[in-house]
Amino acid sequence: MAGELARLRAEREELDSHIRMLESQLRVSPTAPASRAGEGDVAAGTGGGTGGPVRRGNGFMPADMIYRYSRHLLLPDFGVEGQRKLSRSSILVVGAGGLGSPVALYLAACGVSCLGIVDGDDVELNNLHRQIIHKEAYVGKSKVKSAADTCREINSSIKVVEHHHTLRPCNALEIVRKYDIVVDATDNLPTRYMINDCCVLLNKPLISGAALGLEGQLTVYHHNGSPCYRCLFPNPPPVAACQRCSDSGVLGVVPGVIGCLQALEAIKVATDVGEPLSGRMLLFDALSASIRIVKIRGSSAVCTICGENSVFTQDDFQKFDYENFTQSPMSDKRQV
Ligand SMILES: [Zn+2]
Repeated sequence: MAGELARLRAEREELDSHIRMLESQLRVSPTAPASRAGEGDVAAGTGGGTGGPVRRGNGFMPADMIYRYSRHLLLPDFGVEGQRKLSRSSILVVGAGGLGSPVALYLAACGVSCLGIVDGDDVELNNLHRQIIHKEAYVGKSKVKSAADTCREINSSIKVVEHHHTLRPCNALEIVRKYDIVVDATDNLPTRYMINDCCVLLNKPLISGAALGLEGQLTVYHHNGSPCYRCLFPNPPPVAACQRCSDSGVLGVVPGVIGCLQALEAIKVATDVGEPLSGRMLLFDALSASIRIVKIRGSSAVCTICGENSVFTQDDFQKFDYENFTQSPMSDKRQV
């Protein structure tokens, strides 16, 4: 035991040394002038760290936060600046199901400022093989409450907001408006169109994922000039072509893989690190263990939502009948 303790202490000291070096680099970086270093804690706007407002070094990051996120801070391409951007970002996850579970878990763990979760459904026993954020004790209870409780257990320093509604045109603008980035973790067609339209109207990047059977896909819509969902699919497919998990089944880990990748894309968008999947779509095939990335068409000049001459307003959005448009129901019970 003593040896293990000594090893951990040595490891911590080494990490602290690296972090002090990174902090000193940040203070002299032209993108982060010294005058910004004291702009408040990394945890500013959050619920506060578990270790209290202890400060160190240049005083801009509490010691417990430095320790918690030390593996992020050590990444040359991410570092203190990446963590600081994360700690100021607010992300909305629509759907606390198979996709939304890993998305919410990772976003909570990584230290976003505010994590919103929308879902109007309750946890059911047949959700648990894939919706890993929920525990047996929550069967019959609200998915949002279950997911939010788990996220708070993982990271008490972030703000988790519960939206106990199914997202609909009447409430979507008000909810989405509060966040920087939106993650679509649903799988029903009317909701997919609705979230897309809402994000275009409010100019929010949309991390969109889907999983069915043994396959999944994801892309980032309406970000850095990439198309919106309507640019690619101006008209909904025939109802018969729309399969869902409840109709066709899904291997639990498949939405888990796609959800993890959605969380990753959300982090990249939030921090400006790397190249988000804008204008590209990732296709995952579990059976062959293959991942392909295909280029998708650019945004359409004649898109009825994001096109140059679009006349679609927020009023139009609130009146739009997405269920009639897609000929399918807007139901969380059919979520991935
Ligand atoms: Zn469009």
